[in-house]
Amino acid sequence: MRAEIRAKSIATAELSTPCISCGNRPVVAHILQKYYSLLWIPCFPLRKVMATECAHCKQTLSGKELPAAYQAEISTQIPSARTPRYMFTGLVLVVLLVGLFIYIENINKQDTARYVTAPQVNDFYVVDAHEVLGMGQTKYKYEVLRVNSVQPDSIGFLAGNYQYQSEYGALKAIQDGDVKADDYFLKVEIPIEKTRIQAMLVKGYITSVTRNNK
Ligand SMILES: [Zn+2]
Repeated sequence: MRAEIRAKSIATAELSTPCISCGNRPVVAHILQKYYSLLWIPCFPLRKVMATECAHCKQTLSGKELPAAYQAEISTQIPSARTPRYMFTGLVLVVLLVGLFIYIENINKQDTARYVTAPQVNDFYVVDAHEVLGMGQTKYKYEVLRVNSVQPDSIGFLAGNYQYQSEYGALKAIQDGDVKADDYFLKVEIPIEKTRIQAMLVKGYITSVTRNNK
């Protein structure tokens, strides 16, 4: 990660006050806007500092090094300097990404609730097998279940042969099509009452339901 503090001149003026080092003119003054940058993207602005360079002897000064006469003239010549909006780019991106993530999470949650209420054969459930089936190790506890039959009060599931450390491992198996292999699921159907499935969903033991219409 390339993170650094950078500075950009956002206003400039030529001072009539002579250089404190060589006595010549002009001394060129800048308002520097410091900002935090990550991976070359400006993220958010920090403070502003005054800086000067003598056009003749090249003496450079910044911040508290500036003599009072320079500071007074800069304040008069540059009464205000706006922070460029692009310096908030990273901050805005993060806010947008978080918003998008929450939006997608919400849609997934709504889909999952809808699928659990109206199940269809071949829906894939990612579950905490430790809680839902009372099996599996606590470390590799995520498993894929496939809806094999739908009864009025219960759903018949086939349990996957494989356990995963994270729910994303199980989701990936669905997305990559691993679950379509003949030997992915055990052949014994496990009936679970619909009321119990709803309770499991509320408790978070069913982490997602994927419906593939192909
Ligand atoms: Zn000078």
